[in-house]
Amino acid sequence: MSDAPEKKVMKKTPRTEMPTQAPMLRIQNYLEVALGYTEADAKAEADRCIQCKKPMCRQGCPVEIDIKGFIGQLQKGDLPGAYKVLRDYNSLPAVCGRVCPQETQCEGSCILGKNPDKTGGPVCIGRLERYVADTFAARLAQGDSACLQITGEAACRMERPELKVACIGGGPSSLTVAGYLAALGIKVTVFEALHEVGGVLVYGIPEFRLPKEIVRREVEAMKALGVEFKTNWVGGKAILVNELFDQGYKAVFLGVGAGLPQFMNVPGENNIGVFSANEYLTRVNLGRAYDFPNHDTPIFKADNVAVIGGGNVAMDAARTALRLGAKNVYIVYRRTKDEMPARHEELEHAIEEGVQLKCLCGPLEFVGDENKRLKSIRLQKMCLGEPDASGRCRPVAMEGQTDELEVGLAVIAVGTRPNPILLEATPGLKLTKRGYIEADPETGETSIHGVFAGGDIVTGAATVISAMGAGRKAAKEIARRVLGTDL
Ligand code: FAD
Ligand code: SF4
Repeated sequence: MSDAPEKKVMKKTPRTEMPTQAPMLRIQNYLEVALGYTEADAKAEADRCIQCKKPMCRQGCPVEIDIKGFIGQLQKGDLPGAYKVLRDYNSLPAVCGRVCPQETQCEGSCILGKNPDKTGGPVCIGRLERYVADTFAARLAQGDSACLQITGEAACRMERPELKVACIGGGPSSLTVAGYLAALGIKVTVFEALHEVGGVLVYGIPEFRLPKEIVRREVEAMKALGVEFKTNWVGGKAILVNELFDQGYKAVFLGVGAGLPQFMNVPGENNIGVFSANEYLTRVNLGRAYDFPNHDTPIFKADNVAVIGGGNVAMDAARTALRLGAKNVYIVYRRTKDEMPARHEELEHAIEEGVQLKCLCGPLEFVGDENKRLKSIRLQKMCLGEPDASGRCRPVAMEGQTDELEVGLAVIAVGTRPNPILLEATPGLKLTKRGYIEADPETGETSIHGVFAGGDIVTGAATVISAMGAGRKAAKEIARRVLGTDL
């Protein structure tokens, strides 16, 4: 019998819903909201893919996963085969299946999305990616021989301990570099400033969206490939880039992200009860403050909470506040819901859970009481003006029109900047006007020969998959250099 897929006809079949915890139940726990497809769900969704001759979905993916290929394997019932296709392009499929903004990437380009009234909408590529990664991991843990064979193939490689590469920072960009090079037998050491590896995946994105177990699983797989992780090492303080070359490292990758919180410079920002999203989320996720006192880190709580911003970080902070017992949680955003940059699913989930949107306004002042404890925010009302450079309508202040929002806790989620520690300690490293590292877009090489960079520290705050794409490009170039071959 031929293996060639049958020619499929486009017909209207709705997207297969993702089973989720009910909103009022899930805000009382910190467990994952989306429960994952069953085998029947995954089969039904995979069968919606018409296996286009020229698939558009692939171009929509920043690392150009062979989406048609992995879904084709699922249609044939070959789960290990589907996983193998995914792993050839993406070292963190269980993560990306959960957090990528698919609606603007692969699913945004799927042909079925062009005419949703006739087709039911784009294939749920992210949900299938998650299904494949999770099911493969579960079967592997049970000793499934077909799965073991795939990981065994990955482990069959020549060890080259004399070829050492260092990564500074342990987020998705560095993990991609480490995974790629380790698979070629190159010895990689990752230096991470925090006590856990994973970057934003462990300190920023909450457990209810991305269980930390998944990140740990990926890190363990890399350790099995020989990657060494050194935690509590601050690049620029505990170790300098030139010292790494002196220690025999052939190349250095800088994947330190852009984790320095940005504030708004409005009066009252230093009142008690005003936090950066970075501190708020790090306390809850990395410090496990949601499980205080079983874990040591406490967290500030209030009945009424405002989160300033409209991106994923703002949604994560707002939904976290609800889970910590807040009665009213407001998202304060200066444009409208339609311009919010958060993933659609996060916004929908936040609204289902009871987060209230206060759009077209922004803080003028964080008002404190006599003890400098936050009691309210004075808000400037806005309207939308002409589009700005980002293509979104510019928020314009409505002169003299203000509002007052009574809150005891405010979380500022209006963006981040690069942390200067490593940058200032690395002479010769060229930076852009905005303070990010200047790196070759094709190879990731910086102004220092043999030093590469990628992810948020080059682009500014972006996405997991774009950081991984940059890591992959840099890893290819590093491998080409240190192995002395064209791969
Ligand atoms: P990071 O993930 O920031 O990792 C950098 C690592 O380097 C950190 O572990 C840091 O501790 C370490 N480090 C920093 N300085 C040093 C130093 N001097 N020495 C040693 N180590 C150092 N993207 C999505 O695609 N989907 C989402 O849903 C999404 N949600 C997000 C939610 C939140 C709360 C945040 C903050 C971001 C979110 N993002 C999301 C963005 C995404 O997580 C980032 O774009 C991505 O993690 C960038 O990866 P990176 O490897 O460049 O850096
Ligand atoms: Fe399948 Fe959509 Fe990709 Fe076509 S564009 S191969 S239908 S996922």
